[in-house]
Amino acid sequence: MITKDTSGEYINEVKKSYEKISELLGTKIDVGKAGYVKLINAYGSDAVIVESARQSYKMEDAELSEAKINNMILSMTKNGHTSPFEQCSLTFKIKMPIFVHRQFVRSRTARLNEASMRYTKSNGECWEPDEHTWEMRNLSKDFDESKEDSIVNKIKKSNKASVEVYNTLINEKVVPELARTVLPVASYTEFVWNMDLNNLRKMLALRLDGHAQKEIFQFAVAIYMLSEKVFPVTMKHFINEMYLTTRFNYDTLESIQRAIYAGETDAVAEKIDSRRLEVVRNREALLKEIDYLSK
Ligand SMILES: Cc1cc2nc3c(=O)[nH]c(=O)nc-3n(C[C@H](O)[C@H](O)[C@H](O)COP(=O)(O)OP(=O)(O)OC[C@H]3O[C@@H](n4cnc5c(N)ncnc54)[C@H](O)[C@@H]3O)c2cc1C
Repeated sequence: MITKDTSGEYINEVKKSYEKISELLGTKIDVGKAGYVKLINAYGSDAVIVESARQSYKMEDAELSEAKINNMILSMTKNGHTSPFEQCSLTFKIKMPIFVHRQFVRSRTARLNEASMRYTKSNGECWEPDEHTWEMRNLSKDFDESKEDSIVNKIKKSNKASVEVYNTLINEKVVPELARTVLPVASYTEFVWNMDLNNLRKMLALRLDGHAQKEIFQFAVAIYMLSEKVFPVTMKHFINEMYLTTRFNYDTLESIQRAIYAGETDAVAEKIDSRRLEVVRNREALLKEIDYLSK
């Protein structure tokens, strides 16, 4: 016998999440010259995460307030209770240069499907350095800034020459699967990418970091901005507890403690400040990029 039981807060919250997600579908953020990240599917909500976690205590029918959602998600984020986050996911359509994609797919728990360059032809679009990413980049100390224009031109020229060879090969009826071998890693690729919310947070923590390459950082910011629209509470606590945070290992903590006992406040301040500064710089870079991508 098949019956239908829609009682319980879990199903109620799932229904509500569908309404919110359907309003957000299609939200797109442009990244760089031709790239973008577009939300095309999502599963779950902050409340669904909490409802899932509450199965542990068989509390699924208890009242769920905003404060409870906030406190439970904060506690789960702090304590590494990750499985309820795995039950939610986000799907994006993404267009990014192949050299960024190569880093991006190292986050191996994604489920993705990429446009085939065997069955379709490239339109020759290539990533080019723009003023914004150039400005964000920590150029090497030996870099001669007077050569900036000529370097950017060399990159553009090299991409253009490769695309011209590609087009010639295609015109000579070479199959796309062979012609593509001359395309540069600056050419764009497009794919549908899905990841559960727990692994997505891990990916963002790595790629939003100040040490990440600026081009992947930009895409990570766009993914963060869209994820935050679907899961505002989860992403708020992700930022505070997983991303903008710092860890001290045992040796460092011990040396801080020794310095405190010895009254060496400058030494303590120095140790803490270097970590704090990194977190502050990460925060500034994130806010600046959100502002830039929002325009
Ligand atoms: C600064 C930086 C530099 C990097 N440099 C390089 C580089 O030079 N070359 C390179 O190849 N990669 C490089 N990577 C990629 C890196 O090694 C990781 O593969 C990538 O960051 C994904 O991390 P992850 O394993 O936590 O995430 P995911 O691959 O998304 O996996 C999520 C979790 O699933 C589990 N998992 C997934 N796959 C496996 C598996 N096969 N075996 C066991 N557990 C698994 C792990 O618990 C993991 O934490 C770099 C990454 C960063 C951030």
